[in-house]
Amino acid sequence: MVDVEAPEYHPQAVTTAAERREQLKQVYLEASACTRCALAETRTTVVFGAGNADADLMFVGEAPGANEDKQGLPFVGQAGRLLDKLLAEIGLERGDVFIANVLKCRPAGNRDPRPQEIEACRDYLHAQVDLIEPRVICTLGNFSTKLLRGDPTGISRLHGQPEVHVLGHRAVRLYPIYHPAAALYTPSMLETLRADFARLPELLAMGPPPQPERLEEPVPEIEPEEAFPPEGVPGPEDSTLAPADAAAPGAAEEPPVSVDQLGLFD
Ligand code: URA
Repeated sequence: MVDVEAPEYHPQAVTTAAERREQLKQVYLEASACTRCALAETRTTVVFGAGNADADLMFVGEAPGANEDKQGLPFVGQAGRLLDKLLAEIGLERGDVFIANVLKCRPAGNRDPRPQEIEACRDYLHAQVDLIEPRVICTLGNFSTKLLRGDPTGISRLHGQPEVHVLGHRAVRLYPIYHPAAALYTPSMLETLRADFARLPELLAMGPPPQPERLEEPVPEIEPEEAFPPEGVPGPEDSTLAPADAAAPGAAEEPPVSVDQLGLFD
């Protein structure tokens, strides 16, 4: 088991979408230099995720494939084209949603993610959920469904059935559906995926689920400069996740994909 430090950002101290977006950028910079698991040695690019940093709808897939690893963007291959098509059918496009994966780095040969890799990467996904504050999280396939539900039940028993779950400080509607890659070559699965997708607008229209009462935690005092450092100058003390990694050689100053290139955070 990887010893993963708790996130150091404080979502409860962050109120506006602009503040959450700035914190998400810091998490992105940190993830870009991540060496928490052996995938750091074989990846080309960390695939943090892409889309609207204030999206109501978030998708969580499995892990980057070869195309994603090259481009640094999620779902850019065949499965991504299907995802775009399904989104268009419900009147949405990528810029309306946020797309992430359980793993931010490609497992060589597209093998399944390993438990220790999922564990090492988990904080990044949780930080994304905390900071984006989606109403609905659509888990694509088994890996994200099992991780976010905290239960080994498989996707074929769960797809199309929304459930409210508390993740971090917030309740969200989890909506497991088949992974688009699984539907690419199986027409019956594609029809099921399409039917499940068609319920998304209705789920989004329900608004956020009732939120759990927050225990009054003392919010640590953060100097403005510390909380939202000038862009491009994160230091170890600014770390949102793992201070030791943030200080690693080649860390945050030069992420392989620039925030603008991701086109995400506005
Ligand atoms: N591309 C991704 O980014 N994630 C997947 O799960 C599959 C393809």
